[in-house]
Amino acid sequence: MARKAADAAIGATKTALIEMGRKHGRDIRLVNPAHTTMDCASCGARTKHALPLSERTYTCTACGVVSPRDKNSARVMLVRAGLNPTGADRVRAGGPLLPGQREPGIPALQGGEDVNSRHTSA
Ligand SMILES: [Zn+2]
Repeated sequence: MARKAADAAIGATKTALIEMGRKHGRDIRLVNPAHTTMDCASCGARTKHALPLSERTYTCTACGVVSPRDKNSARVMLVRAGLNPTGADRVRAGGPLLPGQREPGIPALQGGEDVNSRHTSA
C-alpha cells in the first residue's frame, strides 16, 4: 500500500515536471533510473553488487575512478540524457574555497584595502 502511494507520488511529480518544462520551454529528458549507483560515469562499467547506502564513495573496479556516490550517479544520469557531465559542475579538487583563498583571475585584497571606498588615487 505504501509502495503504491509512493509510486503514485513519483508519477504525479514526473507529470508535473514534464508539464512545467513544456510550459516554460525547458528541455526535459527522462532517463532510466536503474543501476545509476552501480554504473561508472567515467567508463560505463557496472559493478557486480549494489553499493550499500552507507558507502558514500564510488570506486570503479574497471577504470579506478573514485567519486562521491551521488555525484557519480548524477553524472551517469547526465550521460544517459545525452548531456556532457564535465561542464555540469564546477569541481574544485580541494573543495570549497577557504578564507584567504581566491578564484583564479580575481586579485586578492591588499592589507587594509577598502573595496567600498569611493576615492580615487591618481
Ligand atoms: Zn570506470
